[in-house]
Amino acid sequence: MSTETLKFQAETKRLLDLVINSIYTNKEIFLRELISNASDAIDKLHFESLTNKDILDGVDEYEIFILPDKETKTITISDNGIGMTRGEVISNIGTIAQSGTKAFLEKVREGEGKIDEELIGQFGVGFYSAFIVADKVELITRKAGETAAVKWTSDGAGEYTIEDCEKDSRGTMVVLHLKDEFVGGEDFDFTNAAVIENLVKKYSDFIRYPIKMNFFVKYNDGKETVEIRTVNSMQPLWTRNKSEITAEEYDEFFKHQFHEWEKPLEIFHTKAEGTTEYTALLCIPKHAALNLFYADYEAGLQLYSRHVFIMNKCKDFLPDYLRFIKGLVDSPDLPLNISRELLQQSREVKKIGKALERNILKQLSKLLKNERERYEEFWQEYGKALKIGVYNNAYDEKVKDDLKDLLMFETSTQEKISTLAEYVERMPETQTKIYCASGKDKVTISQMPQMELLRERGIEVLYLLDPVDEFAVEALQKYADKEFQAVTREDFELDDEEFKKTKTEVEELAKSNEDLLKDVKEVLGGAVSEVRLTSHLKSGAVCLATGVNGPSLNMEKTFAAMNNPFFKAQRILEVNPNHALFKKLSGLHALGKDTDEFKNFCQLLYTQALLIEGIMPDNPVEVANKIAELMAK
Ligand code: ADP
Repeated sequence: MSTETLKFQAETKRLLDLVINSIYTNKEIFLRELISNASDAIDKLHFESLTNKDILDGVDEYEIFILPDKETKTITISDNGIGMTRGEVISNIGTIAQSGTKAFLEKVREGEGKIDEELIGQFGVGFYSAFIVADKVELITRKAGETAAVKWTSDGAGEYTIEDCEKDSRGTMVVLHLKDEFVGGEDFDFTNAAVIENLVKKYSDFIRYPIKMNFFVKYNDGKETVEIRTVNSMQPLWTRNKSEITAEEYDEFFKHQFHEWEKPLEIFHTKAEGTTEYTALLCIPKHAALNLFYADYEAGLQLYSRHVFIMNKCKDFLPDYLRFIKGLVDSPDLPLNISRELLQQSREVKKIGKALERNILKQLSKLLKNERERYEEFWQEYGKALKIGVYNNAYDEKVKDDLKDLLMFETSTQEKISTLAEYVERMPETQTKIYCASGKDKVTISQMPQMELLRERGIEVLYLLDPVDEFAVEALQKYADKEFQAVTREDFELDDEEFKKTKTEVEELAKSNEDLLKDVKEVLGGAVSEVRLTSHLKSGAVCLATGVNGPSLNMEKTFAAMNNPFFKAQRILEVNPNHALFKKLSGLHALGKDTDEFKNFCQLLYTQALLIEGIMPDNPVEVANKIAELMAK
């Protein structure tokens, strides 16, 4: 095929402009990106060779070669990995995965055009970092097992060319034509072998393939010769002593190994000796993966045995609620040829997993105790996972016990999120329950008619803002022997005498209005299970309560969203006897329970209660007509 000139896909182009024009504190990151790509390419080849030896064509010594060159003002990074076909170059280098790019550009927009390194890497635009230091980039590549090679060239300005070329061995070579400021200067001379050597040591020391460079050696007799040396130690980081590993080394390792860009929020490096021997190097990434809670998210840890890689994404170590943890486990007690099925049954894996889980939870509670701000950062990203953990382990007291003190909630009286322990500590002695209310946000909840009384009494209410919160709280049932009491459940009560007194009064009143309540219920047909008077409302006329058994109204909505329309909340219409509407209702009832006026009044009362809950009435047009009729009167 001849030379083709192609345009970058529009979004790729925008991204490229952003990358090139943004100012970096770290001009040197291109090197670790390209080394990382090279190492990935060798990984891919190696995996393929496990089932197809021929693909190596006899060359099974993997290497990455870096060649800085002052004369041509270039730096070249080559690998003998898997390489790319023409089609792969076009789709991998000329395009960026649609979804990733979109998400990226949205983030950039959110930040009003502000773009930083963290952002770039989150969406895997590593290769493009080459354009930070180069005004022209050539990529020459030959796919393993094939003879054809292609050359991709671009100045990053919207177009690239792609043409056939010669390459005598498999793999990829990336040639960066450096901008003048990166040649020969004092700060960033990327044609200087010593500078590059330091960068490789700093960022890529642990890369498990040799990174080689040419070095000029002068002998005593004045002769000069070129020596090829491996620059990186290739020692797996986790095998080194904890005390000898710098924070930066850990960070770089995670970035490379798990395609993270930002440094992790928390790192766990444990070595265990004894009956089961293992080393684990785990981290909590700074940000949750966008698909963390979707089916396509693949959780799991990498598995090594005696430093030899066995498997990616082994799911059997950690429970599902810790799906956000990334890392690896290296254990000599696991055989090299273990299958996924055997792993699941392996006692060693279970034992290691349990120990890791315990360790992670312990570190989390330490973080909560000692570094509140960082814990809250963690909570914003992963709190949902822990709450799902509580819900999924509703019948496992041990797990619930481990998790309950790590949970945090918004509340009605606090600016910041609180633990359950903190809520309980603030409770007045007379309060015996933990009051909670669910809704989509703080404002919506605070406007609920049921909240008025609690606000007046100065009682703090736990806000359940995430749909999973209510499920988690139901699974817990109690905290510190205090039951959770939803403000919208039919059994809602306050502990004080005043409430008890009004309650008795209202009960008396209900007795004398038995017929009325029965008739309202009859008008509403099957829509409600009960109509009753309440001592719960202040200025509101009506509200909906739900039965003590079964889901709440919000849970009903969640079930419906999950295609489970059969879990229905038991609806109870509560009427405030101190409201003018109640008097009106009684008056209409006295005129006859079969009159249209009475029936319409009942329907509209119920509709109001529905609207307060954010539920659309079944027959909105009819309701609107009735309101219109009333207004015109
Ligand atoms: P990422 O590495 O995060 O996927 P990049 O922009 O760095 O993003 O690379 C895009 C894709 O191009 C890679 O996923 C890979 O398929 C391909 N690629 C990049 N460099 C190489 C290389 N040296 N050898 C083979 N393929 C490569």
